[in-house]
Amino acid sequence: MRRYRCGKIVSTIGPASSDPEKLEGLFLKGVDVFRLNFSHGVHEGHAKVYEAIRAIGKKYNCHPTILADMQGPKLRVGTFENDRIILESGDTFRFDLDKTPGNTRRVNLPHPEILEALHVGTTLLLDDGKLRFEVTACGKDYADVKVLVGGPLSNRKGVNVPQVKLNIPILTEKDQKDLQFALDLGVDWVACSFVQTVEDVENAKKLINGRAGVVSKLEKPLAIKAMEPIIEASDAVMIARGDLGVEMDPEEVPPIQRRVINTCHRMGRPVIVATQMLESMISSPSPTRAEISDVATAVYSGADATMLSAESASGQYPFEAVSIMSRTVAHVESDPYCQRRLEDDTQLPQRTTIDAISAAAKDAAEYSCATAIVLFTDNFESVVRCTRLRPRIPVVLVTSSVRVASKSGLCYGVYAVHENIFENKEFDTSVMSKAAKDIVKEHKFAKVGDNIVVLNDLKGHSVEICQL
Ligand code: PEP
Repeated sequence: MRRYRCGKIVSTIGPASSDPEKLEGLFLKGVDVFRLNFSHGVHEGHAKVYEAIRAIGKKYNCHPTILADMQGPKLRVGTFENDRIILESGDTFRFDLDKTPGNTRRVNLPHPEILEALHVGTTLLLDDGKLRFEVTACGKDYADVKVLVGGPLSNRKGVNVPQVKLNIPILTEKDQKDLQFALDLGVDWVACSFVQTVEDVENAKKLINGRAGVVSKLEKPLAIKAMEPIIEASDAVMIARGDLGVEMDPEEVPPIQRRVINTCHRMGRPVIVATQMLESMISSPSPTRAEISDVATAVYSGADATMLSAESASGQYPFEAVSIMSRTVAHVESDPYCQRRLEDDTQLPQRTTIDAISAAAKDAAEYSCATAIVLFTDNFESVVRCTRLRPRIPVVLVTSSVRVASKSGLCYGVYAVHENIFENKEFDTSVMSKAAKDIVKEHKFAKVGDNIVVLNDLKGHSVEICQL
């Protein structure tokens, strides 16, 4: 499905959007990447959604992208005798390994790894940071804390330990089962939650073994400190502002978002800006102006994709949310200032063949006023190197690999077409130019008289300007 924008839209699927008709509706409104959130739902449900999305791809002869997001080590307290307590600032309280229900003096913290990592003065956050504690004494099976910010605390609320490295694998036993299931389905990308170190990414990559791309979710202050090696080791990155905003002060998040996007740009890693982008649309048919501004900021800074979470998973207006996000991205991209900013931020090509021909294709497109760059490749890395230079016009990817086609839906400006013409013995650059012209005409990227640039990364390397 031809989109009139370069930035991509990731939509989280949930009860509000998992029926086949609703998935098709979201796709028609503009969703490029469907996110299956394994923090919720059961395998059978995810499999149905997966099949429905692939059926949409067949129906519209295109390649929607599917991202499986792993829950990761979500840390929670146990339960309370009366389900809920109220803590006042200044109170003392205890977290321990005792599994019996808690009360106003103590509660179970069923994660010995947290207790091991604590020391006096460590901050603990509960219920998305609403409650704040400071450790005053600790041992291997308990932590005594002072309540800095109190409030109600109920069963199984989430726990965050911002500045401490926890000795916990990012893929829990549940995640490993979910991962195998998602890989067997054939998802294009796997997102790993709570990445702390480059080793976390390397271990996930070993398990995934090339069967899907790895998206590292940056949501821990430790991951931000180690952002360069983590981004380098990852195939793509998500700025997971929900948990990041809990573990860091809110005003720290925007500059981090800029730095992560710039680093991803420099290294050539697709980057998603996630969470609370159109939050008010969970219950309102139109967004706030501030939310639209947030989407616009992500586009101006050059993100590959913006993401909807609860807005499309469980909100009342999933279609409206996708529509307004799509219109906002397209409108901001049409601002000449946006293009200038992207060019200012564009990193120089590296001294590699693919960067050389990508840069040549970008220049050729610019000076010949071409309407599309047609990239022939079976190599996903080449797609990323080309789009990293942020050409002003769409990159029509022509590939014999269905996997490369559907993975590329996450990348800025890429429109993928799957073709088997390369198997033809007669296939050479003249066949390629003819095929390129037919494809752009069929998919409405050019009309008679327009120029296109053919970027060949398949039979040797070349760049050619062709007129339709
Ligand atoms: C986030 O915290 O911003 C995020 C995307 O993670 P999740 O929705 O999986 O909690």
